[in-house]
Amino acid sequence: MNTERAATPSILPTHVRTLVVGAGFAGLAIAARLLRADRSADVLVIERAADVGGTWRDNTYPGCACDVPTSLYSFSFAPSPDWSHTFARQPEIHAYLRKTAAENGIRDRLVTGCELVSADWDEATARWRVRTSLGELTAQVLVAATGALSTPRLPDVPGIGDFGGTMFHSATWDHDCDLRGKRVAVVGTGASAVQFVPEIVDAAERVTVFQRTPAWVIPRPDRTLTRVEKWLYRRIPLTQKAVRASVYAYRETYVVGMTKAPQVLKASELMARAHLRRQVPGRDLRRKLTPGYRITCKRVLLSNDWLRTLARPDVEVVDSGLTRVTERGVVDGSGAERVVDVIIFATGFSPTEPPVASQLRGRDGRTLAAHWSGSPAAYLGTTIAGFPNLFMMYGPNTNLGHSSIVYMLESQAAYIDGALAHLASGDAVGLEVRPEVQARYNTSISGLLRRTVWNTGGCASWYLDSNGRNSVMWPTFTFRFRARTKRFDAENYQSVGIGAADDAAEAAWS
Ligand code: NAP
Repeated sequence: MNTERAATPSILPTHVRTLVVGAGFAGLAIAARLLRADRSADVLVIERAADVGGTWRDNTYPGCACDVPTSLYSFSFAPSPDWSHTFARQPEIHAYLRKTAAENGIRDRLVTGCELVSADWDEATARWRVRTSLGELTAQVLVAATGALSTPRLPDVPGIGDFGGTMFHSATWDHDCDLRGKRVAVVGTGASAVQFVPEIVDAAERVTVFQRTPAWVIPRPDRTLTRVEKWLYRRIPLTQKAVRASVYAYRETYVVGMTKAPQVLKASELMARAHLRRQVPGRDLRRKLTPGYRITCKRVLLSNDWLRTLARPDVEVVDSGLTRVTERGVVDGSGAERVVDVIIFATGFSPTEPPVASQLRGRDGRTLAAHWSGSPAAYLGTTIAGFPNLFMMYGPNTNLGHSSIVYMLESQAAYIDGALAHLASGDAVGLEVRPEVQARYNTSISGLLRRTVWNTGGCASWYLDSNGRNSVMWPTFTFRFRARTKRFDAENYQSVGIGAADDAAEAAWS
């Protein structure tokens, strides 16, 4: 344990071995991994908000729930027999993350209300010099666990500042805004909108939904867990493990359709079309809601009531686009204005331009955003040439369309743990992935992505960055990622900082 560390966790130490930025699923995955291996590991987690939980703390919109089965969307090292539903609701997931943080000793290593301002790699001392809203510190290793879906994006339409009513983004829901009897415009029809629109229509006077691209929607096989299941999970934990394994295995079969044989996806399209026919009787509306691209090209939406809701007489679907916001309302593509009291933006996030990339400066003094210039790239979605001792959770090309991101995060955590062990055992104070290794890796990833449904399915999605490169999706089975990250492959890294670090710094790391 580093002696430079202050005794009180609420005050920043001057130096820490591992600094984790962010306490969502990703930050908790790596912190728990390090602390489970060694309760006295020198790790500090900083979190800009007042609590842990990341996206599951921030997104509190009505109906917010996970659309991946909870048996899989939870930590393998922290099974819970208490989930109420097969697809857990947001408050339950947030409570689970708080409990996991407490049970794994992370609360004692956590400083909340502490926002990263910048982090610069200092070649002379081979440390990260970190500035935060609560002061400065140095770190040997920096783990960016800042989330891909943490910064809300608003549409770039004129007049947004002129609106005289109430306006908010789905990720920062305004719970003081009473929607009863209000005329509401909802912009966006993604995974968030499908969850909250059915929840607000009964209260609102009418709801106008601005749809840019129709989504493929399939039923969500959600149900409450029975007392017998909970009893079994508590008494015979192997049963819960078996359920998790079977959900995992079943979901991996989707990869075949998404990456190798798109014709296999036809069956899912037929299922989605049948769902649409069952829920929407009107032919015109059905036509509006029928996607013109291959299923899974964009994220498939799971809902039992979204399509039915859109068919209600007090709900209107506008598909000519939102062109302008005025003081009184919203203007569609035909120039018609609708007067509304509230606008809710369900327009998503900017995962390919994460703000943290502008805050990190590598060996050459340039920011990560400058290195990337619109196309995020890393090695194993985790390490980046030119940025020694930086590890990124949920980095480039680690997102999934079919399974649980928690599986990927735990794989990354194991890899980072291996890198830290390597650092501790050798004489290197810094590790940097070799540029040619990163380049080769990304060439192979791009090659694998070329034929996938995300690149060829005929849709525009946030999987493709501003240069048109798919820098978001993992292109094959997730067990391949697990296999690649199981062992830290030191041979693909160069040591940095040997001889450059001053004696005092080296003493602090030993
Ligand atoms: P999203 O999937 O990015 O959807 C944004 C929606 O806004 C899309 O329908 C998009 O249309 C629309 N949009 C964006 N700009 C627009 C504009 N200028 N005018 C009109 N429409 C516009 O965002 P999200 O629904 O918040 O979900 C984000 C991600 O969060 C999801 O993909 C998922 O990974 C995650 N999420 C997960 C869960 C879960 O249960 N696990 C729940 C919610 C969200 P286009 O389709 O045309 O771009």
